[in-house]
Amino acid sequence: MEEFLCTTCGTQYPASSTPLEECVICREERQYINPNGQEWTTLDEMICSGKYRNKIVSEQPGLFSIKTEPDFAINQSAFLVEENHFNLLWDCIPYLDQETIDRILEKGGIDAIALSHPHYYSTQVQWAETFDCPIYIHEDDKQWVQQESDYIVYWSGDEKRIADGLVLHRLGGHYRGAAVLHWESGGAGGVLLTGDVIQVVPDRKWVSFMYSYPNIIPLPASTVDRMAKKVDSLSFKELYNAFNRHVKKDADKVVQRSAERYIAALKGEWFNT
Ligand SMILES: [Zn+2]
Ligand SMILES: [Zn+2]
Repeated sequence: MEEFLCTTCGTQYPASSTPLEECVICREERQYINPNGQEWTTLDEMICSGKYRNKIVSEQPGLFSIKTEPDFAINQSAFLVEENHFNLLWDCIPYLDQETIDRILEKGGIDAIALSHPHYYSTQVQWAETFDCPIYIHEDDKQWVQQESDYIVYWSGDEKRIADGLVLHRLGGHYRGAAVLHWESGGAGGVLLTGDVIQVVPDRKWVSFMYSYPNIIPLPASTVDRMAKKVDSLSFKELYNAFNRHVKKDADKVVQRSAERYIAALKGEWFNT
């Protein structure tokens, strides 16, 4: 029996003797099945290969990014946010080895894990068991959880305060339960961690929004308008996505301006081609 792990999205499945024919997360239109056919590995296999290592980088006081090298699956970063002696792991990555565990334990371990959306669930249950902490997932995305666990706490509504200064906000869009993390006292004026629910683009003066990134399917104008209005009530100046991109100043204005441009583009009012 093995806990098979999809090499395209990094989702781990409950122990079984043979893997599924196709990964449930990848066969859906927001992801894709490997064009060469579905491939599986296991966390043990990854560790034994000696090929991978997690790089932990201090992004700013109280914030560390954690990313696997070389690139694996979707290749997102997770973040460890330290707020008032509470350590929150924001989003998750598939690879977890003893060196990573030791380095996180040196920082005081993990008190809770919170997920932006199903593409990053990866080996979240393994992380929760290792650090003996709850996983917060919005109940609207429950159907996408492949590995159930008593560690999972399904939250509902539009807001969930995990600890002092650490609040989840459901924005929807990319997934129905898609959430961002508001680190209220982070940086100078608040930090928003968004996974790819709000995506930072190469031009850091802008962000974007998508239903599917790999398949380039946009969101409706009304959805982006609703997301921007929810974010407008939050106080923040910086924004981090899951792919090493950081809006360093005026991120609140950047989100509003980008939502306006996106909606104008969808309506055919932004450019004439
Ligand atoms: Zn997959
Ligand atoms: Zn995604």
